[in-house]
Amino acid sequence: SKVWQLAARPTGFPTPEDFRLVTEELPAPGPGQVLVRNDVMSVDPAMRGRMNDVPSYVAPFQVDAALDGGAVGTVIASESPDVAVGDSVLHGLGWREHALLDAKHTRVVDTAIAPASAYLGVLGMPGLTAYAGLLDVARMRPDETVFVSGAAGAVGTLVGQIARLRGARLVIGSAGSAEKVRYLVDDLGFDAAFNYKDGSIRTQLKQLTPDGIDVFFDNVGGEQLEAALFRMNLHGRVAICGAISQYNNPDATGIRNLTLLISKRITMQGFLVLDHWGRRQEFVDEMSGWLREGKVKVAETFVDGIDHAVDGFLGMLRGENLGKMIVRLT
Ligand code: NDP
Repeated sequence: SKVWQLAARPTGFPTPEDFRLVTEELPAPGPGQVLVRNDVMSVDPAMRGRMNDVPSYVAPFQVDAALDGGAVGTVIASESPDVAVGDSVLHGLGWREHALLDAKHTRVVDTAIAPASAYLGVLGMPGLTAYAGLLDVARMRPDETVFVSGAAGAVGTLVGQIARLRGARLVIGSAGSAEKVRYLVDDLGFDAAFNYKDGSIRTQLKQLTPDGIDVFFDNVGGEQLEAALFRMNLHGRVAICGAISQYNNPDATGIRNLTLLISKRITMQGFLVLDHWGRRQEFVDEMSGWLREGKVKVAETFVDGIDHAVDGFLGMLRGENLGKMIVRLT
């Protein structure tokens, strides 16, 4: 059974040489354990942070040890009364073909309601991040103007759609290609979007937000954050979800216009989805309703095969994904 390990800590942008695929014996479950054949696994920007040897809210990956992350798989052997062979389970041991873990560290999911990949995206961690970040952290209200950076990704596609469904007046997004920009406007119902690689970010954002921005949901940081602060309205709220423009950049520069927070009375708040698990059921109920009614479109990009998991991860960091990047293992 194949497992991906971290071979070396990347400096700057990771390379394939930083990873190693090894083959291990398939273990048998002990009391209370299940053996899972992984069907889909997630590659997330936060995994890049865990490749650095720094203390954070989650332990760093160790060199020469297996990577891990969200996955959904099928139980093929069970020594637990709570989980049956054939069940689909969500768990934290991705980056491998088979996972052996305590049944209490799995959650049975219903793949008749939504495909396995949905539990890693629209109905999973990225979905709750979008929902809680927009509604609880940034406290978006109807009739406000919302700008989301990284809008064509797993979290961003959902932020824009939730904003629209919750009555935003104007929903603006940024992304890294003309094709993504078109998708946001034509398929997801954003009012406008721009390509941040295509000319001045500040000028493009100014043109698209004539009445300023009330809520900024930031996935990207850096220059886009700086540009958005210039456009924020009085008492605007900025939810700092991520800063992917900085993760692979050891020479990242700081934000130079933070004094705008004072004059505009802006609230800027970082958040982690793990503090918002209490909202999970409300989120799942509302999102499931939107999906049933066809009001939310699910964007996913698939990479096939355990051998290509690193390609999927690096591709996601390069922006090769539209919506959630998923590695399909079966
Ligand atoms: P995405 O699906 O958005 O994938 C990452 C995207 O980042 C790429 O598709 C690429 O799109 C974009 N990107 C890469 N480099 C840059 C750059 N230099 N400048 C601007 N954009 C770039 O990932 P997720 O939706 O999973 O995550 C989005 C953000 O949310 C990340 O910052 C992540 O760390 C954060 N996050 C935070 C959580 C929390 O609890 N706070 C939970 C989950 C995610 P493009 O083509 O547009 O460049």
